[in-house]
Amino acid sequence: MKALVIEDSKEIVESVSLIFQLRWPGAKVVSTESGKKGIEMVETESPDVVILDIGLPDMEGFEVLRQIRSFSDVPVVILTGRAISEIDKIKGFELRADDYVIKPFSPGEFLVRVKNALTHARISSAEAGVLPLAVNNLVIDFANRNVSFGGMPVSLTPSEYKLLCYLARNAGRVLSHESILRVVWGEGYEETDVIKTCVYELRRKLAQAGANPEIITSERGYGYQFVTLV
Ligand code: CA
Repeated sequence: MKALVIEDSKEIVESVSLIFQLRWPGAKVVSTESGKKGIEMVETESPDVVILDIGLPDMEGFEVLRQIRSFSDVPVVILTGRAISEIDKIKGFELRADDYVIKPFSPGEFLVRVKNALTHARISSAEAGVLPLAVNNLVIDFANRNVSFGGMPVSLTPSEYKLLCYLARNAGRVLSHESILRVVWGEGYEETDVIKTCVYELRRKLAQAGANPEIITSERGYGYQFVTLV
């Protein structure tokens, strides 16, 4: 784990480093108080995640993010000293900021935001990856967004596809309703009924192609699992 912290407050850099090292022993944290230097370091240091302050001495954090996004999809968590306006929030999400943390923050909250950002990144890079995923007879071709079972094409809606990708990527693990909602439907979505409907359709379509519908099992009251051996 390597984190780049672009932040001019030494105190914040220190506490962020400490949080990273406690959570990921051996984590390397590099930092700079300059936005310009930070952009260069995304290239030279190849961090796994960037923690970016909005109020920097040499340039605005949003401009730093815009320039980072011109060449990198690294997960970025924005730090802000004030409650962020709706306009700024949208600006950040348009520039593909993964999340926001308002200072002062608790280590727990900070870690949750960073972990979410890392999850987004894993899923989007898996989807961008060239190698299809094959489990039993199911093949997910991420590059072409195609799904087939035993050679039979399975036509899915975007939500069904995202859900299947998330489940299959984590085959053998039970995924909670909360994490499924966050990854497939996005932050702030809380209605678990949509998962139920989506799983129902997924099972139905996979069964139509010849799969055992129990390829996706539910853990009552908790979540769902993609089963590798059915
Ligand atoms: Ca600052």
